[in-house]
Amino acid sequence: MKEVEELAYKEAQKVKKRQAKKIPDGLQEIYDRTSGFDQKAKNLIRDAYFFAQEAHEGQLRKSGEPYFIHLVATAKNLADLGMDAKVIAAGILHDSIEDGVATEEQLLYEFGEEILFLVDGVTKLGRVRYQGMRRHNESLRKLFVATSRDVRVLIIKFADRLHNMSTLEHVREDKRERIATETLEIYAPLAYRLGITTLSKQLEDLSFPYVYPEEYKKVREILKERSKQTLSKLERMDRSISKKLAANGMRKFRTTNRIKGTYSFYRKLERKKGDADKIYDIAALRIIVPTVADCYSVLGIVHQNYRPMVGRIKDYIAVPKPNGYRSIHTTVFTGDGGLVELQIRTEAMHLDAELGAASHLGYKKREGGDQNVDSWAVRLMGRFGSTPAGNKPLKDPKEVAPGWIDSLADHSDNPESDSFQTELKDDFFGHQIFVFTPLGEVIVLPEGATPVDFAFQVHSEVGNKMSGVKVNEKMVSLDSELKNGDIIEVLTSKQGRPTVKWLDFVKTNEARRKIRSFIEREEAEKR
Ligand code: MN
Repeated sequence: MKEVEELAYKEAQKVKKRQAKKIPDGLQEIYDRTSGFDQKAKNLIRDAYFFAQEAHEGQLRKSGEPYFIHLVATAKNLADLGMDAKVIAAGILHDSIEDGVATEEQLLYEFGEEILFLVDGVTKLGRVRYQGMRRHNESLRKLFVATSRDVRVLIIKFADRLHNMSTLEHVREDKRERIATETLEIYAPLAYRLGITTLSKQLEDLSFPYVYPEEYKKVREILKERSKQTLSKLERMDRSISKKLAANGMRKFRTTNRIKGTYSFYRKLERKKGDADKIYDIAALRIIVPTVADCYSVLGIVHQNYRPMVGRIKDYIAVPKPNGYRSIHTTVFTGDGGLVELQIRTEAMHLDAELGAASHLGYKKREGGDQNVDSWAVRLMGRFGSTPAGNKPLKDPKEVAPGWIDSLADHSDNPESDSFQTELKDDFFGHQIFVFTPLGEVIVLPEGATPVDFAFQVHSEVGNKMSGVKVNEKMVSLDSELKNGDIIEVLTSKQGRPTVKWLDFVKTNEARRKIRSFIEREEAEKR
């Protein structure tokens, strides 16, 4: 018997070694999206890959595909964002505890404290649910930021959501709308504020058809009609400008097209009262050059050859946008009756504009060239101390979140946005905490609030029948102080009823008022 066991063990070891030698397709696809990773970095990703494969063995997605596909897709998205190996590994592992069979202990043992911290953060963030109340969107965005505590957690969650959105058609219809709305109202704006514009655009365009189906159809028709002519116009302009630049001695430059996203176009259309002819930046031609001096040379050559439109020349290099965005914009007449927007920038500016905060976390920053070290993203990272150098995860959210959020507020730049900026500056977190019902609904309470305040906030009847409470699955006394992120389960019974003593410790007026009125009613009945 023992021999048989030994034989089986040896056989298993052989299989493992064979697996280790042959790089599976999924893993290779992740590697292919990275560059400059050393063997140690690759091995970390490989270990995470095999670990997750085992943890999700036999599990299927709603689409019928193996669950593991979702983790490979998340990792690919993170690699596209230029994330380092730790973040990519954490992305592969992000569901292994919550949905797979792995334990925290295993993850800690195999991958260490930092990766466990990231996976844990993503799991906590997953409990925050959109409740379908637009007036609470700002609170929810703040809650997301505060809960994640580390911008890398948010980025993993974005990468996760990006794949979930692209497979949303397999999800139940009622759930589909909630997820899409949450993506559009919470995730996409946050990605935008972190400067990760490629991501916010993708998230918006994937949600748009589910959230506003009618508007989407209309916009798609307009764009379909326009983008063909726009694209050929852009290509002609590209050839024409490239020739002019070369003729003027410019050697090192490249061009790319940018077509406006459907949702972004829809928003702009609304602002222009439905007049699509007033939208000049449906498409833009980007000219990317090595140095800042080259940017101005290009601008000179362009204006010598094409008449610029008055009022549309913007030098965001000399005067960057408050969020750190740099580029020169100009809209010129093409000579055949059309207008084209040109955006002139260096490679480093381009990277910063596309990836924002993400570009300062990943390996790509080493290739960046003339990085603007004063950019808001660097300051942001510096403030809450999360650098790719592998700092210790931060333990106390109170210490971290406000500084981080301040930075976001100071540097966010979206004139059309709601009052995110000003609201953040109100030192929101100093006075309020966010706690959850067991179903993940968010309840906002003042600092120092107790389970009794929570109960009355949920419903008068819950407060009036309260007999006990579990906070994070542990029984605690009714006067305990609640903390940000606590999950609270109120126990009710027929015998439960408010007492005068509760008035000594409740913090909200609402609870106080309801307790008093209950007691008064009871007294009246006795008489
Ligand atoms: Mn996931």
